[in-house]
Amino acid sequence: MSRDEVIDIPNTKEIEAYMHCNRCLTEIPLGESPESYARLSIGFTPIGIQVWCVRHDANILHVHFEGQRHPSNQTRQRQTGDPTLC
Ligand SMILES: [Zn+2]
Repeated sequence: MSRDEVIDIPNTKEIEAYMHCNRCLTEIPLGESPESYARLSIGFTPIGIQVWCVRHDANILHVHFEGQRHPSNQTRQRQTGDPTLC
C-alpha cells in the first residue's frame, strides 16, 4: 500500500470492546457505568500507545508498534451548535 492511498478511518464511535481497569471495575459506585467511572489517560509512548488508569496509577494496555507507523483519523464529528469546525 502506498502512502497516497486513501484509507477510510471513521471518526464516529466504533468501539466494540472497551478497555477497563480491573480494579475500577470492582469499585464502580451505583449509578455509574464502567465508561462513566473510568479515568483513563491515553497517549503515545516512545514505542507505541498506552492506556493508563489515572485512579489507580496502573497500566491497562501498552501496544508496541514495532517501529511501524499506522494511519489515523484525528478529526471529530461536527456537533449541532458547535462553532468550531474540524
Ligand atoms: Zn483503575
